[in-house]
Amino acid sequence: MSWLDVKAFQGWKKKRSVRVEMSTDCIFCKIVAGRIPASKVYEDEDVIAFNDIHPIAPVHFMIVPKAHIESLASGEEKHQALLGKILLLAPKLAKQQGLTGFRTMINTGREGGQEVFHLHVHVFGGGASLPKT
Ligand code: 5GP
Ligand code: ZN
Repeated sequence: MSWLDVKAFQGWKKKRSVRVEMSTDCIFCKIVAGRIPASKVYEDEDVIAFNDIHPIAPVHFMIVPKAHIESLASGEEKHQALLGKILLLAPKLAKQQGLTGFRTMINTGREGGQEVFHLHVHVFGGGASLPKT
């Protein structure tokens, strides 16, 4: 790799770390961009996790990729590592939030109960044990 190539690669990496695909009218993209507040429980370069504004359990947060991916049905091969990362993060964050057991939920599409069309994994639990369904 020549010096010029190295520079180009570094520039690409730098841009890549600050630029994620986003949708201007998406509420979760606005949270990612810090344009509306959220009660964050975790953040890194790829994902953010924050408490659900209308919790259905004593602990209820969502893990959200920073890139605007509409739903699980829009996932592509290139998202494989990101989706894996989100799943591996769920038990770590659940433990940090004091949960010994938890439920994950990914609503997909209107018929699947999805209301916010930016992929997210709900993680919730705490209090009494959750019903089977
Ligand atoms: P879905 O039904 O799409 O799986 O879940 C969307 C979730 O996002 C809902 O549980 C809803 O309470 C939550 N939500 C919607 N708008 C906001 C918001 O502005 N902030 C936060 N923290 N949660 C939100
Ligand atoms: Zn979005």
